[in-house]
Amino acid sequence: METIAQWHDPNPRTFSKAQRGRTTLLFGGLTAMHDGLIEAAVSSLGYRLQALPCPDREALQYGKEFGNRSQCNPTYFTVGNLIKHLIHLRDVEGLDREQIINDYLFVTAGACGPCRFGMYVTEYRKALRDAGFEGFRVLLFENAGSLQQSEAGTGLELTTGFFITLLKAAMLADVVNAMGYRIRPYEVVAGSTDTALEECRTLLCAALRKRRGLRHALRQCHRRLAAVPVNRLQAKPKVAIIGEFWAMTTEGEGNYRLQRFLEGEGAECEVQAVVSWVLYSIWEAAYDTRERMLLRSEQPGGRRRWEFAPLRQLLLLRLGRAVLQRCFYRYARHIGLAGYHLPDMDELARIGRDYYANELRGGEGHMEVAKLIQGVTQHKAHLTLSIKPFGCMPSSGVSDGVQSLVTARYPEANFLAVETTGDGAINVHSRVQMALFRARQAAEDEYHAALQTTGIDGEQAIARLAAQRRCRQATHYPPHRVAGTAANLLYELARRPWPQRLTGVR
Ligand code: SF4
Repeated sequence: METIAQWHDPNPRTFSKAQRGRTTLLFGGLTAMHDGLIEAAVSSLGYRLQALPCPDREALQYGKEFGNRSQCNPTYFTVGNLIKHLIHLRDVEGLDREQIINDYLFVTAGACGPCRFGMYVTEYRKALRDAGFEGFRVLLFENAGSLQQSEAGTGLELTTGFFITLLKAAMLADVVNAMGYRIRPYEVVAGSTDTALEECRTLLCAALRKRRGLRHALRQCHRRLAAVPVNRLQAKPKVAIIGEFWAMTTEGEGNYRLQRFLEGEGAECEVQAVVSWVLYSIWEAAYDTRERMLLRSEQPGGRRRWEFAPLRQLLLLRLGRAVLQRCFYRYARHIGLAGYHLPDMDELARIGRDYYANELRGGEGHMEVAKLIQGVTQHKAHLTLSIKPFGCMPSSGVSDGVQSLVTARYPEANFLAVETTGDGAINVHSRVQMALFRARQAAEDEYHAALQTTGIDGEQAIARLAAQRRCRQATHYPPHRVAGTAANLLYELARRPWPQRLTGVR
């Protein structure tokens, strides 16, 4: 009988310990802060790591030129970004193809799942071959945490220390970014927040490279950020950005620079922390373990068998989650990120399951639905913006399908789903502007309601704020009561004791 050879992707993955000193590991795809801090942290472990710049339109063009048809939008941007960099190394820096293939490799995340994420590595291979870089290595982190590379003397050692270092850098970037989004919309001097954030990045990178002094660096960041002059008595619409992970995280053309566009239009953005994705992965693993424990065993009578292994796994997952949260909140405290809450994954699963089964995976799963409902019922934002890449299967099903039912049941929701294709920025921006109009009105109504409820007028609010040094600081964030920061600040000022003798006003 004829033996048929099965096709397999001959992805070259050889990366040995001996090659580590002369091999540059390229990576990228998160925010500039994440990429910068991860580069510094992992370099401290002895790797030559280099973050790629944020993907732009040129990267998209390379992705479209060399990628397969019908891919989802992040594929074109991320694959094209790598090709663009390699072409730069070849054509501008003068490296020959062999040098590039021997001295560089790319590390990326991958997964096996219902969406195209699982096909990314094959896409990289195809595009690299067609762009003239056949043999260029792409190492893939699987969801399970394993890495495909040469067995003996592996170049990239995925030890516990490696993952802790990676997670630490990601969490640090999350807290710094969150501070930036809280401060920048209210800065008095344009650009002062970005200058402070850049100094924070330098301080944290230095601490990560030295592998000590992180707490001190965070406190220095706190002082630096607190010194940014702000005026939070401005009623600005708060916009929660949700959607597909890459599209809502990137800061470049992949989402038409939406975060900066929104801030330019006078909004305050609430972005999702990257570590939320890790918490979601932990939740997924715990959920699946619990479900497996309910399966009938193969024992006679089909009775369930008490097993120790899944219980131990659940315990370890719970421990991992607790350590992660503790570490995140410690960083948040040191940098001055007060009142920030990581999402409670069990709560999101509970909220979302009536609309999107918890078992459905790919993309953000039930999280996108649950975040919208939570945002509406808990008055977290004036507008929820879901960013969906063109060609994204899970996100299209949610934002075009399920969210229609959610908004029908919660008519007070101001929800907009936008599709990112790389072109069509004007169309997306004008749709966002229309949704922002309603959000702006809601923010102003909320602010006036706060003035009426507290019984203080605009002038008195300024006087009260002037007398509260702590509330004036950029790192101070008023406790949540309604969506708008200015209204929340009014409520806080009204609660604080007011020394009338200082100004004579109420
Ligand atoms: S979630 Fe959507 S955009 Fe992201 S990899 Fe999957 S199919 Fe592509």
